[in-house]
Amino acid sequence: MIKVLANDGISSQGVLKLKENGFEVLTEKIKQEDLIENINNKNIEVLLVRSATKVRKDIIDSCPNLKIIGRGGVGMDNIDVDYAREKGKHIINTPAASSNSVAELVFAHLFGMVRFLFASNRQMPMEGDSKFKELKKSFSSGKELSGKTLGIIGFGKIGQEVAKKAIGLGMKVLAHDKFSKDTDITIHFFNGDKKTFNIEINDLTTVLKESDFITVHVPKTDKKAIIGANEIGLMKTGAGIINTSRGGVIDETALMFSLDKEKLAYASLDVFEDEPNPSIHLLMHNAISLSPHIGAATNEAQDRIGIELADQIITIYK
Ligand code: NAD
Repeated sequence: MIKVLANDGISSQGVLKLKENGFEVLTEKIKQEDLIENINNKNIEVLLVRSATKVRKDIIDSCPNLKIIGRGGVGMDNIDVDYAREKGKHIINTPAASSNSVAELVFAHLFGMVRFLFASNRQMPMEGDSKFKELKKSFSSGKELSGKTLGIIGFGKIGQEVAKKAIGLGMKVLAHDKFSKDTDITIHFFNGDKKTFNIEINDLTTVLKESDFITVHVPKTDKKAIIGANEIGLMKTGAGIINTSRGGVIDETALMFSLDKEKLAYASLDVFEDEPNPSIHLLMHNAISLSPHIGAATNEAQDRIGIELADQIITIYK
């Protein structure tokens, strides 16, 4: 029986699908330093990881029978992908499985932001019984999303899912992408209807200047932040910005400065430069809605990740 080690976990649906197709699935976590020994002794042919387990040259070189390395999720920074491919290993991941979950988190933050839920949830437990009227007043300049312009920077898988939801809410969408051209997106409705929209790709300056909210969905590069002080300077006063892509894509210092100066009204961050120890100044900031990198962390996304990995493994062995 071919053995699959899912070292950072895998959904029960993924396990079921693999088992149904004759694979043995091991899910007990093995420490990084014991991986090589275990993979060889147990003759594991498929190693599945999320972000915690690292698959570097040492494992690739020392485990000749390892055939497939799979990443449940998108980024493969924890795997020496090119080296593994040179050595003949199959590398698989699940780039689309979590797009909808990340897109929904964008709106969780957006709705929370425009009604100050992030702040009222912090203050109500402390002062809700003694200063109800004061709190009501301080959170009463809420905004509706409907009718506003959402600027989407990076119009790939997640950016396009965000656009569909924004259109559904009656928002105007402005997209920027460095590499893609105008893109058709199709929204499917509950009754089987569907509608296709052609989304024009604009230059970055236009999107920054004309949007009420900016959401960023680009990959992390080693270069400087895509949104720094200059880019924030172009945005509307009172706008909001959301980062669910990768920490550092928005310059955190420039962001805090712009919030302190009330150039931007609010920001939402799911990702941070210094994960897992984000800047305490960001965490304490009263205009930032926060979540601890949970964009893909839904049951549905985890199920899809497990099933997509299982499907790919089954196909490779066929
Ligand atoms: P994708 O590759 O489908 O799309 C990225 C898009 O960005 C591409 O269209 C690309 O052309 C564009 N792009 C690249 N560099 C750019 C630049 N400098 N300026 C403008 N556009 C640029 O990727 P995706 O699946 O949509 O993921 C987007 C981001 O979300 C990634 O950084 C990914 O790591 C992150 N992500 C976060 C979570 C989370 O838990 N918060 C979960 C999944 C993905």
